[in-house]
Amino acid sequence: MLQSFLPIPSHSDFPLGNIPFGSVTRSGGVEVCASRIGDQVIDLSALQQLGYFDALDLPNGLFNQALLNDFIAMGQPTWRAVRSRLQALFSAGSALEGSNHMHEIVLALTDVDVNLPIHIPDYTDFYSSIEHATNVGTMFRDPNNALLPNWLHIPVGYHGRSSTIMPSGTPIHRPNGQRKAPSDDKPTFGPSIKVDFELEIAFITGSGPTGGSSIAVDQAESHIFGLTLFNDWSARDIQQWEYVPLGPFLAKNFASSMSPWIVTLDALAPFRTPAPSQDDVQPLPYLQQDRSACNLDIQLDVSITPEKGQATQVSTSNFKYMYWSMAQQLAHHSINGCLIQAGDTMASGTISGKDKGSYGSMLELSWNGTEPIAMKGGGQRSFIEDGDTVTMTGHAEKAGLRIGFGEVSAKLLPAQPWNDLTTKK
Ligand code: CA
Repeated sequence: MLQSFLPIPSHSDFPLGNIPFGSVTRSGGVEVCASRIGDQVIDLSALQQLGYFDALDLPNGLFNQALLNDFIAMGQPTWRAVRSRLQALFSAGSALEGSNHMHEIVLALTDVDVNLPIHIPDYTDFYSSIEHATNVGTMFRDPNNALLPNWLHIPVGYHGRSSTIMPSGTPIHRPNGQRKAPSDDKPTFGPSIKVDFELEIAFITGSGPTGGSSIAVDQAESHIFGLTLFNDWSARDIQQWEYVPLGPFLAKNFASSMSPWIVTLDALAPFRTPAPSQDDVQPLPYLQQDRSACNLDIQLDVSITPEKGQATQVSTSNFKYMYWSMAQQLAHHSINGCLIQAGDTMASGTISGKDKGSYGSMLELSWNGTEPIAMKGGGQRSFIEDGDTVTMTGHAEKAGLRIGFGEVSAKLLPAQPWNDLTTKK
């Protein structure tokens, strides 16, 4: 295992084997691209200016900016070269150890602000957990035909909206909107009464081929820059009324929260695991993939902390449950010639397992409000209440090696006031 000369707390998500990519604002307001080791931030711009990347022939100022998109657009060989160089520089016995450059390069996490590190040109949300799709189909449509006929043939997805994706820590507001339960005779308007989280992992893409070409499934992972935790906030009452026939719209695009450190597939390579079999219903050839190691064993946990209350863990799930892999999602997304751009963000869809404790949304955990969850310190939850903070963590661990994402955490604030035209005559 790689050993660093920097101090790393035991059980840190960020050992030298991780080397995620992110962005921070230094004291004084300078924004730079960064990595993280333990609870220290590595200023990639300072490293470049001091000549530590000279052998890599990177464009001047590549990391002297708030966003990683230019770096991401350079492609996998560059991502790998920079990450390997960082691992060498911060290994025990490196020339950097004890250098007077250290105070310019290494910052305490507590001395910087951590930013959303990418401009997201487009956001796509998949629906790739068979357990989640079955649970939602059972509740919203028909228990006997919970999966629609296309589901086992297509990694179903929809185009979301990137403008309201926020970094961990940014509070969000309960959305206003239209809702109508099946038993209501007409819709009403107001704050959603069924605000929910969706436990997801998103992948960030590099640049795809231009000119209408597509990305082959066995090449797709080389177009994936890295992964983050993703809370795809949802308003179930708005969703249930609006989603037919064109799918999710305002129930989804009011907010999504993402963890700020992008973890590479190389860092997660030790945690590859088989994916659920697709032998019973074989996908079309362009989606066929060796299933023996295409998923990742990443444990995911969700907790809810009420205002002034204590945290209650409500779900423990795992990314290995996904029926459609990231490679299949990306191959499908580009098969029609859709242009994939550096920084595009594609979320997995809610990650649910077979057992109730592994469901990835309150919709499923409380079975649409019919089975509320008891909270530590009293009270119960069917959905998220004003003042609640939802926190998701994720990590992989094996043979003493732990690679993680940190957390994505956000507080739900009351709805914004609106002009209530319904009261005007
Ligand atoms: Ca979603």
